[in-house]
Amino acid sequence: MKDWIRPEIKALTAYHVPDATGHIKLDAMENPYQWPPELVDQWLELLRDARLNRYPDPSADDLKLKIRSSLGLPPESEIILGNGSDELIQMILMAVSGQDRVVMSIEPSFVMYKMIASFLNMSYVGVPLNDRFELDIERMLEDIKQHQPAVIFIAYPNNPTGNLFSEQAIDKILTTTDAIVVIDEAYFSFADKSYAHKLPNHENLIVMRTVSKMGLAGLRLGYMAGNKKLLQEIDKVRLPYNINILTQLSTEFALQNRHILDTQTEQIKRDRKKLLAALKAMDGLEVYPSNANFILLRLENKNADDVFSILKEQRVLIKNLSHADASLDNCLRVTVGTEKENEKFLLTLESALKNSVK
Ligand SMILES: *Cc1c(COP(=O)(O)O)cnc(C)c1O
Repeated sequence: MKDWIRPEIKALTAYHVPDATGHIKLDAMENPYQWPPELVDQWLELLRDARLNRYPDPSADDLKLKIRSSLGLPPESEIILGNGSDELIQMILMAVSGQDRVVMSIEPSFVMYKMIASFLNMSYVGVPLNDRFELDIERMLEDIKQHQPAVIFIAYPNNPTGNLFSEQAIDKILTTTDAIVVIDEAYFSFADKSYAHKLPNHENLIVMRTVSKMGLAGLRLGYMAGNKKLLQEIDKVRLPYNINILTQLSTEFALQNRHILDTQTEQIKRDRKKLLAALKAMDGLEVYPSNANFILLRLENKNADDVFSILKEQRVLIKNLSHADASLDNCLRVTVGTEKENEKFLLTLESALKNSVK
């Protein structure tokens, strides 16, 4: 058979998800909590009436209404739903892709912007953050001028660094370029800050979010809000019925019971504070501030690969970022888990730091 696969695709390494069976799973920014049993019963009762023989509502209007009213999006903005926000990134890029179209983001950041750009044969420009992982606004404006990107993705808070960027810097980007600027607020529930209220002021602004990190990762639902004219065009590349009926019903139900998710979020924020303090008290770690449900660490005099392996042997799975970007040398990322999981992680990390050779 002739080798039809495009060289750009062959050059990629597939997005790798490690097997976490039997591990304390602190690698993927999941909410560690489940629902109380009464709520699970109510949810199952609701699913009893789901008509699996029929296609779902193609525009998921009930769910959109619920999202609009419960998640603080301006009434004049249009909303598009995706099978996770990953699918929304894909839709935006499909709608603008073309031979000399450029996608821009920052480095280090969420890898899917770059990956989907290469799936679609688009050029990608990653602008490095400064050494405190903040936006280098001068550099960014220069690169925008030089490359004229069609889309700029800014994760806010950023993954994997955990911080929020300067609002002034983002505003400058929004007002001085004609690129579509996507503010990716995957961690908005942990951040207390959002660009949603600025949607009416900027026709090139899209605010993108997901329910994954707020406790519903299994449902795969992302949403984005933005100017009507722009989103109506992007909506044309959406595959019909992209949000299945179980996801529509379950997300609506979860948002009706938002207080459960909110209580979990508050718990995670309190535990983030404790975890940050405990990590800062340990020797040999640089601990970065976090507005998300994870914490980025740098090992000052140990090898991150070794420490990661020791943790893994002890059945604690976190994320090794040491080889993800030059600026992340010897960096690890840990998701905030339950109190018990965090304690186990801290104990295991402490002994790993002692026992690793380098
Ligand atoms: C996790 C994450 C996403 C992906 O969210 P899904 O809705 O689960 O696809 C998008 N952006 C950032 C910055 C993330 O960290």
